[in-house]
Amino acid sequence: MLDELGLADHYVPGRLGGKLVDHLGSSLMIRAVARRDLTVAIAHAKTFLGAVSVWLAGGESQCRWLAREIRDGRLVAWGLTERDHGSDLFACELTATPHDEAWRLDGEKWLINNATRAELVCILARTSPRGGPLGFSLFLVDKRRLESSDHGCLPKVRTHGIRGADISGIRFTGAAVPVGALVGDIGRGLYVVLESLQLTRTVCTVLSLGAADHGLRIAAQFTRGQARSTSRILGEAAALRLLAEATAIVALRSIHAFPEEMSVIAAVAKGFVPTAVDLLLGRLGPLLGAVAFVADRSPHGAFEKLERDHRIVALFDGSTAVCQAALIAQFPTLAEGYGTAAARDRLASASCLASPLPEFDPAALRLSSPGCTLLAALPELIAELHGLTASGELPGRVLALAITLESATAALHRELGALVPAVRQIPTAHFALARRYELCFAAAACLNLWARNRHLPWARNRQLPGLRSDTAWLEGALVVALRLLGVRVTAEAGTSLDELARRAAGPGGEAAVSLLGANVGSEL
Ligand SMILES: Cc1cc2nc3c(=O)[nH]c(=O)nc-3n(C[C@H](O)[C@H](O)[C@H](O)COP(=O)(O)OP(=O)(O)OC[C@H]3O[C@@H](n4cnc5c(N)ncnc54)[C@H](O)[C@@H]3O)c2cc1C
Repeated sequence: MLDELGLADHYVPGRLGGKLVDHLGSSLMIRAVARRDLTVAIAHAKTFLGAVSVWLAGGESQCRWLAREIRDGRLVAWGLTERDHGSDLFACELTATPHDEAWRLDGEKWLINNATRAELVCILARTSPRGGPLGFSLFLVDKRRLESSDHGCLPKVRTHGIRGADISGIRFTGAAVPVGALVGDIGRGLYVVLESLQLTRTVCTVLSLGAADHGLRIAAQFTRGQARSTSRILGEAAALRLLAEATAIVALRSIHAFPEEMSVIAAVAKGFVPTAVDLLLGRLGPLLGAVAFVADRSPHGAFEKLERDHRIVALFDGSTAVCQAALIAQFPTLAEGYGTAAARDRLASASCLASPLPEFDPAALRLSSPGCTLLAALPELIAELHGLTASGELPGRVLALAITLESATAALHRELGALVPAVRQIPTAHFALARRYELCFAAAACLNLWARNRHLPWARNRQLPGLRSDTAWLEGALVVALRLLGVRVTAEAGTSLDELARRAAGPGGEAAVSLLGANVGSEL
């Protein structure tokens, strides 16, 4: 049904006849599926991950051909990982060697989503025996054109969650693929993968948002059926979802507004959103009590499956540790830029849903970012918020939380500036700094989204979902972010979480405490 509805068009760039023009809009389609069933969303959206390297580095005719294949319903898998090497792509052993005006593939990719079902697989292969940064290349392999004797799909792996997905692998033994299968230049494979991951990691955050929507929906329904008063846990969970949602929205719009900063933004988004949603689901479990443990066909019976399914999102496409390591490597640059106001227009474009997004420029992606404008401009935003409190638009209580956030963010940047970069193994303390960085980013995303969208109509225009203009959501999100940062907030500020819980359990349910609400994926 999703194929018939044309969901795959959202994996194909607009210039190639698809509907991928705005990465936020297309990702919200995936979220609309994920909020019903995460496994289906993961299995379907995988084609975007498989194709993205071709969109970034493929030749024009290769791009046009792949666009047609995807729009005709063909699946594309992405084969990076190997059995013995996890996320260490430099260690990959599968080789591609020139042979009789073709390439000969030998080796295995394992734990690959849709390796069996997909007609096409984008494979990372070693093209120089020495390996290294220029030792790998990408190939778009058409399985239908291979001899059956020179390749084989590996058995489906039994997994803890997403059991309905085809998690398998593929083995090549002298498989000949045509020269036209090469994606981009020989030896540039790792560079293309690292740039592709900046897009896919950002898009994957909507899988977690869908899971959060689903979990909150189950919890809100459950709470309504209870005689007891609404639990604050529901409010905390709603606030976590708001932080995750704000991060994802700003990150997805940043693909257009700040492509050169995506090496930081994607790492923050993928490092933060899935773990925030794991935390959210972990909080809802005790709220649901025994029903969270029962796998029956009742509305609550889906919770245990959801919890199992979601575990994978923090793991694949760059685990939390891998994303945080990518962020840590950029700490020295990030420390320098704090407080320098720049690119005000582009920041507004990343956060204001009414402002048109610039066309995505793949050539602007960088492996290392010149900074992070969202956080660098936080002091400037706080100065603006003072004015909004003076004019009565922002309660003083919320301004106080925003000022506390800025102090915590400034202190973090001072620590980053004093850090001695690790030469070999990254110390555990640096990962704790990365988590703090993510939380500051998420809270700053909330502040920017509120400030830039507070005049937009909420849920009136189905083409352009407006953000909530009130400050209860903002206050709740800031309270939870500050607590996770280890900052004490007043008991009074905590009552905003009761308000979020009341709204979530009331009419409109969990959508009433979502930034984009019921409009998510309404086109679908
Ligand atoms: C259901 C499922 C579907 C998948 N689908 C695909 C797919 O379609 N295509 C594909 O190519 N792969 C796929 N994978 C593979 C997946 O991307 C890898 O398993 C993933 O990158 C994590 O690697 P790892 O945990 O196996 O090993 P490793 O990355 O080696 O991790 C081992 C341990 O080291 C830690 N670690 C790793 N790197 C660092 C670091 N830099 N700093 C600190 N600690 C670190 C990890 O946190 C972990 O504790 C899939 C995996 C699963 C389970």
